[in-house]
Amino acid sequence: MADPVNEVYLADRRFDRVLIANRGEIAERIQRACRELGLKTVAICSEADRQASYGKTADSFLCIGPSNAAGSYLNQDAILLAAHLIGAGAIHPGYGFLSENAAFSEAVEKAGIAFIGPEAPSIATMGDKIAAKRAMILAGVPCVPGPDTALPDDTASVERIAREIGYPVIIKAAGGGGGRGMRVVHEAEQLHQAIALTREEARQAFGSAALYVEKFLQHPRHIEIQVLCDIHDNAVWLGHRDCSMQRRHQKVVEEAPAPGISADMIGPVGLACVEACRQIGYRGVGTFEFLYENGAFYFIEMNTRLQVEHPVTEMTSGIDIVRAQIMVAQGLPLEMRQDEVECAGHSFECRINAEDPESFLPSAGMISDLALPEGQGIRVDTHIHAGYRVSPYYDSLIAKLIVHAPTRADAMAKMREALSATRIEGISTNLPLLRALFEDEGFARGETDIHYLEQWLRQRRGQ
Ligand code: ADP
Repeated sequence: MADPVNEVYLADRRFDRVLIANRGEIAERIQRACRELGLKTVAICSEADRQASYGKTADSFLCIGPSNAAGSYLNQDAILLAAHLIGAGAIHPGYGFLSENAAFSEAVEKAGIAFIGPEAPSIATMGDKIAAKRAMILAGVPCVPGPDTALPDDTASVERIAREIGYPVIIKAAGGGGGRGMRVVHEAEQLHQAIALTREEARQAFGSAALYVEKFLQHPRHIEIQVLCDIHDNAVWLGHRDCSMQRRHQKVVEEAPAPGISADMIGPVGLACVEACRQIGYRGVGTFEFLYENGAFYFIEMNTRLQVEHPVTEMTSGIDIVRAQIMVAQGLPLEMRQDEVECAGHSFECRINAEDPESFLPSAGMISDLALPEGQGIRVDTHIHAGYRVSPYYDSLIAKLIVHAPTRADAMAKMREALSATRIEGISTNLPLLRALFEDEGFARGETDIHYLEQWLRQRRGQ
């Protein structure tokens, strides 16, 4: 029998026009999913992005503010005004910018527009790393040893907590993000200064001085679990990814599945993530990030949005995550059950950045010419083309190169070939680095942890 309450809710949430509140490759990617679903699209841009390719293919295209993101991609009023002007029934925030802003999710829904992402309380809980840790412990998700409460002010208690955890520990800002607001402490003598510095940094950068402390794991891998939830209490996890290849906490290469992790090891963790989603009434896509060391998983945070690396999971699971994300935002039930999710083969993603491969300084300017790889199991997510001007205002990610093959070794070989067929001229990119990395034997053996890439870079520089 039809459920009258759900039917009303469904009718309420249905929409036929989506405003994409983002730029670059992800704006292009979301637009593609909308078109496949027969939805009209509204692209927005800043002054710097007026020539964007996705502006030309969208049904509507509006410049909403200056090049500076604060006046455009982060300008909630301007985005809502654009949505009203064009009659958008939904807003997709992409990643970065306003995607994990609880106030924005709330403002969008209050304006009668569907936010393609979780409800504000879920974003707020997960955005506060202490609250997130508490929610995860309740749901039975394994966490890094350390209290699920903020650090007290008195010195003696702090010293006791750190001693109980055992050095080294890491001091983290509850509101931290982007790899900032963290400090490792190796011995008791460093504790108080580290707390004072991190507190000040947290106050200035995140507007909250709340800190917490946990065990610092010395050689972990970064492994994450992708989830997908509808508003009818259905939730699935779509396998796992390894994103250990990082520089300054920024991911450079991602892969699915994480090498050497058996279904028996990860299965209970995946189910606990799904259970956590049910407990907090989570809606949409999300990622649980874990550190993995000596056979154990430790939750560190949940990202309540689509992630840059979602394609590797799409390649292995065969599920279009953005399409599913839009459908659940419309109030539709998930199209798959957990026992229908089957991951096959191996996928890598390389983030191609406009930056100097030695100094890592951003490289802006015009792309004079380019060649992108093609072929079976090769995917390029990008917004660039010959004549495209890379702007200095935003993130340096200009393309994602993704491959899929039956085994990890095959996928590495395919990536080597795809990288050698990629040519981007006129600006500097990290392509030479990525090519060298895919020749590295340690990486080929899957012997990496979150420090591997930085050690490898130091070795290359002969340090
Ligand atoms: P952010 O929200 O800034 O990305 P995370 O909590 O996800 O912060 O941590 C970012 C990175 O910092 C992790 O990928 C890992 O490299 C390192 N890190 C965080 N917590 C720990 C820990 N307890 N032990 C060791 N490394 C950690």
